[in-house]
Amino acid sequence: MICDVCRLREAEIYQPHTGRKLCRECFIQDIRDRVKQEAEKIGLSRARKILLAVSGGKDSFTLADTLASFMDHNRLIAMNIVEGIHGYNRAEQVQELKRFLNELGIELIETSFAEKEGATLDEMVNRSRATGLNVSACTFCGGFRRKIINQVARDVNADLVATGHNLDDEAQTIIINLIRGDLIRLIRFGDVPIKLSNRFVLRVKPLRKIYEWETTMYAYYKGYSFQEVECPYISQRPTLRAKVRDLLYMVEAVRPGSLLKLVEEFDKIAEDYRRMFVASIGEKELPTCKICGEPTSYGREICKNCELLIKIGLLKYDQKYLPIS
Ligand SMILES: [Zn+2]
Ligand SMILES: [Zn+2]
Repeated sequence: MICDVCRLREAEIYQPHTGRKLCRECFIQDIRDRVKQEAEKIGLSRARKILLAVSGGKDSFTLADTLASFMDHNRLIAMNIVEGIHGYNRAEQVQELKRFLNELGIELIETSFAEKEGATLDEMVNRSRATGLNVSACTFCGGFRRKIINQVARDVNADLVATGHNLDDEAQTIIINLIRGDLIRLIRFGDVPIKLSNRFVLRVKPLRKIYEWETTMYAYYKGYSFQEVECPYISQRPTLRAKVRDLLYMVEAVRPGSLLKLVEEFDKIAEDYRRMFVASIGEKELPTCKICGEPTSYGREICKNCELLIKIGLLKYDQKYLPIS
């Protein structure tokens, strides 16, 4: 079988959403072209410096490698956060990624919850259990990862943060937010994020039009060896995402290209809503947390992260702040 694009080489891969058979080289080029197209749309070409939030997995490799194929490596810098989860050590995987980043000329900043927050994720979860608060590991993880990424982005003067979320993640999140009726979040979640605070470094997802199987194949073809390690806190994760994922895969199997169509159509609708939303809030900045100085939601004096730390006894509560819920 001959490749449908170059018509020279043997085809190795079938791409269901386009109905094409591709050779290795044309497949890699196709992924790079699509990432470049998305990058143009989300303003990556105008950014002076982009911080890549990486984990060592296939998506973070594909993110770095595709961006480096059309961007000057001096504009890219990567970071990894060690959350501190017992039995979930990705150190070797991060070292493997570091070697590849080195070849691409991209520096890797390594940091951790312990270094930045004075406690590992395990310690936060244990204290949360001990105090009867029982906040899930994913809540701590999501909140503090976001905070640390934002801090590092400001430290290195990055204009944008790029994450490795792929099309499958993106389509699931759209459906989940729809089911929850979380329209604001849904709008903010679109391709071009809304900047509500000067202290927020905007986050973009250059792989959001690339199927997960494609990021896997890309990393494999480029010789990146990876082991997807499952987080031991997986059982605490909302099961809705798993159900939505299964449902979407069923639809995709019957009608290839559905996931891509879903995200593209969502982007079109979100654009109008986003304009309305921005007009309604005006230029109103988000307040900053009186403890850590990070942006927090309207009407709050201290952010959710600091509130959690106070509740589990890792941060001293001062009466001068609003009573916490
Ligand atoms: Zn070809
Ligand atoms: Zn705070």
